[in-house]
Amino acid sequence: MTEAAFIPFARPDIGPAEIEAVAQAMRSGWITTGPQTRAFEQAFSAFLGGGSDGDLQAIAVNSATAGLHLALEALGVGPGDEVIAPTLTFTATVEVARYLGADAALVDVDPVTLNIDPARIEAAITARTKVILPVHYGGLACDMQAIGAIAQRHGLRVVEDAAHALPATHQGAPVGRLDGSAATVFSFYANKTMTTGEGGMVTTRDAAVAHRLRVMRLHGISRDAFDRFSSKTPAWYYEIVAPGFKYNMTDVAAAMGRVQLQRLPQMHQRRQQLAGRYLRELADLPLVLPAPAPAGQSHAWHLFVIRLSERARVTRDAVIAALAQAGIGTSVHYVPLHRQPYWRDRYQLRPEQFPQAEQAYQRMLSIPLFTAMSDDEQTRVIAALRASVR
Ligand SMILES: *Cc1c(COP(=O)(O)O)cnc(C)c1O
Repeated sequence: MTEAAFIPFARPDIGPAEIEAVAQAMRSGWITTGPQTRAFEQAFSAFLGGGSDGDLQAIAVNSATAGLHLALEALGVGPGDEVIAPTLTFTATVEVARYLGADAALVDVDPVTLNIDPARIEAAITARTKVILPVHYGGLACDMQAIGAIAQRHGLRVVEDAAHALPATHQGAPVGRLDGSAATVFSFYANKTMTTGEGGMVTTRDAAVAHRLRVMRLHGISRDAFDRFSSKTPAWYYEIVAPGFKYNMTDVAAAMGRVQLQRLPQMHQRRQQLAGRYLRELADLPLVLPAPAPAGQSHAWHLFVIRLSERARVTRDAVIAALAQAGIGTSVHYVPLHRQPYWRDRYQLRPEQFPQAEQAYQRMLSIPLFTAMSDDEQTRVIAALRASVR
């Protein structure tokens, strides 16, 4: 047994600047949606290359799940509609379709990238299909050109689940500002590439979608909370135009997000460095390492997912147990949705329908990758993997 400290699978990277910003927001007398949230939205849009003319709108919400729900709602997804998504994802990606009475059509993934397989999308399209919902798995952008072409051919909208993909690029353009997408949804959950504790952001270049999102994120009030307290019309007057939700971000969270966003390029650099070292130093083991981004494209490196290769003489579960014994946390992303009782039973899904996700699931684990991880901690992870995988 090692006496060394436990290395978690992920740990948030919160510094004194975040703590000071949160304290300031709390002292300001304004803690719910207000000036910090507005400034965070503007900074987020600018970060993705949006101009001051509002060509790219960023709408802050209290989770990515809320953002996905709002995005589908804004596109008019409703009972009887279908949303196509990969089976290898978190349930939040598709549970939001059910909130609206719509259904999820789960499809298999590409064996190399573990992203949704465009050929499977095409095969899953029915008269009920309304939206394609790709997930940039681990932080590697999906083949958005192929997905966009399919959407265009069939008159479908695209909503990106970019919970892993900040900051990622696709053919030189940042995820969050890609052509052909109706909306892109980011997560600031505690273990994501930047965090506000809980939080999310939706970006869109569609003014109608942006307007609907702003109305529906706060009770269906016809103008948003910030305007209500800053515009010239009396503050008490508002109009309800729809039965909206309570999905707004607090200024306390936004204050933290503004600092995290400023630190994001440097945090991303650290993730790239850690991932690069794993790729080099694990290359000789019987492992399938994550596919790097194509040339000229940037991987967000939210996750580092390894798979035991055919040559490996140990099981995935044995590797997880050995790492735990060495004081190292791991995870599995994900138990595919077709194996989850709710989705499996609702659509009578069988593992044989998803051979690639099945093959990956049996052999995969995610190893520690977080910006606050030290070189020494990474050395320990590599050594423990080396010892366990033989
Ligand atoms: C984390 C995550 C979500 C949900 O994000 P929240 O901000 O926790 O709601 C959705 N999709 C994927 C792929 C995720 O990893």
